[in-house]
Amino acid sequence: MNYQRSSALFVEAQKVIPGGVNSPVRAFKAVGGDPIFVEKAKGAYLYDVDGNKLIDYINSWGPMILGHAYEPVVNAVIEKAKKGTSFGMPTAIETEIAALAVSMVPNVDKIRFVNSGTEACMSAVRLARGFAGKDKIIKFAGCYHGHSDSFLIQAGSGAVTFGTPNSPGVTEGTAKDTLLAIYNDLDNVAEVITANKDEIACIILEPVAGNMGCIAPAEGFLQGLRKLCDENNILLIFDEVMTGFRLAAGGVQELLGVKADIVTFGKVIGGGLPVGAFAARTEIMDYLAPIGPVYQAGTLSGNPLAMAAGLAMLKELNANKDVFNSINKKTEYLHKGMDETFNAGGVRFTINRIGSMISVHFSETPVTDFTSAANANNENFKKFFHGMLNEGIYIAPSAFETWFICDALSYEDLDTTIAACRKVAKTLK
Ligand SMILES: *Cc1c(COP(=O)(O)O)cnc(C)c1O
Repeated sequence: MNYQRSSALFVEAQKVIPGGVNSPVRAFKAVGGDPIFVEKAKGAYLYDVDGNKLIDYINSWGPMILGHAYEPVVNAVIEKAKKGTSFGMPTAIETEIAALAVSMVPNVDKIRFVNSGTEACMSAVRLARGFAGKDKIIKFAGCYHGHSDSFLIQAGSGAVTFGTPNSPGVTEGTAKDTLLAIYNDLDNVAEVITANKDEIACIILEPVAGNMGCIAPAEGFLQGLRKLCDENNILLIFDEVMTGFRLAAGGVQELLGVKADIVTFGKVIGGGLPVGAFAARTEIMDYLAPIGPVYQAGTLSGNPLAMAAGLAMLKELNANKDVFNSINKKTEYLHKGMDETFNAGGVRFTINRIGSMISVHFSETPVTDFTSAANANNENFKKFFHGMLNEGIYIAPSAFETWFICDALSYEDLDTTIAACRKVAKTLK
């Protein structure tokens, strides 16, 4: 395939945008090569500026669960835009989408809309701290909650249980309030809680992890966290930015039957426009300004175009919950096809899947946490990524990302993908 025009645009972009991109993963640093510039997309396909057509397994990192340029969403945005694009005053559509979202998600009474998943998680943690009257939070190594300071933390060395900044610009003062724990390791979480008795406001996690590849919670892990939170007066925050309105209409709370105190959303809830949200029971949500003491705000929060896209998306999903079965079946088909192909090719691999989230790690041993994900063979992943791209298949440009299956994918597309895998498997060790 020819990427001349993409490469030329990348050169121009780097002159005026740091690294040529507005979000780092797009730059292909983990796999090498130049990023691809998109011209347009429809259904399951991306069309790049060089005229290549790619089958898309990223779907804007999740939002396009029904495929690109989905007509009800596009039409809703067009109609709304004609009436003005922002007022900074209340609009009825905000109540409409809030009521629908709250009706679809278990254990929440009220929801507030923001502009990104980052903002949702940042605000949820502030609310948890304010409500609990405590400062420290627990997060898990390998879980991503956006780029606000409290989350850009890595495990501290040796005996210290608190984290250290993993980006310049994040202060030690902030880092000392974020405690790091190991995903799928309840004993580790219990130890961290014991060492910081009565100081922990909340535990935040991806209830199904998608930012170290796809990693499902071990049997009993979420239930165990719920119990630890109840016993120690800690709020449990499910970051469902990726899993919300994807793994089930009611997200992981519904899928696995575990109750969170605060839930965050992004991606699907905006139908492809910049939207995030956080929700909880009334008692917690009413702790927010203007009726409560915890401050949180946004000039463009609840923006009419964003709400129109989100509402159109949620309405589609709510009216046709069979979509979730449909994408799960497609993902299972892909999983089975890739399993057979890699096995036949003698490749050492682990495929993790839950619902319509799936990822491939080139590792012989199970991938259950950040360490086991990081131990996989990244050279094989790079080859796999570029090999698939060469066959017209666009997967995530990093082994630490999940693939998102959309309902616009046909079984023919999946067969094409599996055939490409068969070819590429021959080049892997
Ligand atoms: C994408 C993501 C975020 C951040 O959302 P942005 O809209 O990129 O700020 C937070 N949490 C999880 C689990 C995510 O996947």
